[in-house]
Amino acid sequence: MQILEDRYGRLHDYLRISVTDRCNLRCLYCMPEEGVQFAASETLLSYDDIVEIVKVGASLGIKKLRITGGEPLIRPNLHELIGQLSAIPQIEDIALTTNGIYLESQAEKLRKAGLNRVNISLDTLDPTRFKFIARNGDLKKVLAGIEAAAKVGFSPIKLNCVLLKGINEDEIAQFLRLAYEQPLHVRFIEYMPIGHADEGWKQHYLPLSTVLDIAQKEGYNISEKNEIQGNGPSENWEFSGGVGSFGLIHPISDHFCKNCNRLRLTSDGLIKPCLYWMDELDMKSAIGNSDELRNVYYKAMQIKPQNHEMAEKLLDIAQTHVPTERRMSQIGG
Ligand code: SAM
Ligand code: SF4
Repeated sequence: MQILEDRYGRLHDYLRISVTDRCNLRCLYCMPEEGVQFAASETLLSYDDIVEIVKVGASLGIKKLRITGGEPLIRPNLHELIGQLSAIPQIEDIALTTNGIYLESQAEKLRKAGLNRVNISLDTLDPTRFKFIARNGDLKKVLAGIEAAAKVGFSPIKLNCVLLKGINEDEIAQFLRLAYEQPLHVRFIEYMPIGHADEGWKQHYLPLSTVLDIAQKEGYNISEKNEIQGNGPSENWEFSGGVGSFGLIHPISDHFCKNCNRLRLTSDGLIKPCLYWMDELDMKSAIGNSDELRNVYYKAMQIKPQNHEMAEKLLDIAQTHVPTERRMSQIGG
């Protein structure tokens, strides 16, 4: 079988698929409150387009998928896409990243269609602060979504918590307690300077070593754990005597690119070899021609850079080429 291997010997078996750049929230680290230009709906890949792109990727070694956005659950009948993707024989794992607001009503349909896992974004356990960070939405709905996901049997359930200095850092101990007491995996994520989302970025950037300091201060006996089921670059920890676990995703303060196995497909049909840089390739124009689609995958391997340079940005060091202007919501996280 043919494989997707880049110039640095990294094998790619994981595709993240953004199904929309639209969202019902406006998280302050991801999108501005107003004035976001969304892709016109006629430019979005249809579910059939996505399935065609994935089938060719699967013939080249793609085995794992993540559906993301914008908010993927605002795309009508997402379970139908999941059903079609899960029928592709080489696809072993399909995960979803969602803000959870619409999960309660869709969890069962998604599970039945073949979705294996969910990550739910949750940056605060305080309803007022939720409205400040997400600029909209209701924390209660997210909590109901988490409960529904557990009820229909998703496991492991991962919570994505972007840490923001001066905004939610005082909740680290509470999130650790949640991971200690509940069968949840809490992933603490460093705030990344992606696209235009970096206005005020440095002011709220918090290195994740803070989490380990707080775990120690709170008296937890923790130890490093092997990769829990998933595809992430997360460093994972478990508690002695605890039910859940936690992970640290530190793209900036630690090396993150060494084992990168992922490609990203945007909702308007571009392949991004790296989250951070501007480079993207037009996959949409190749639809209908599997040789052409294969060539775009190969080209992505040829141009994939060795590293992002987010740490350089923190230190005000000049970067080697042009960072993306897309926001996280336009790439898919
Ligand atoms: N709307 C869905 C959600 O929020 O889960 C999926 C898309 S969202 C872009 C995917 C992930 O990216 C979320 O967990 C979000 O917290 C994270 N994210 C967005 N902007 C970020 C940033 N600037 N730094 C770090 N993580 C970010
Ligand atoms: Fe929407 Fe997710 Fe971005 Fe928040 S992080 S604005 S929920 S896409």
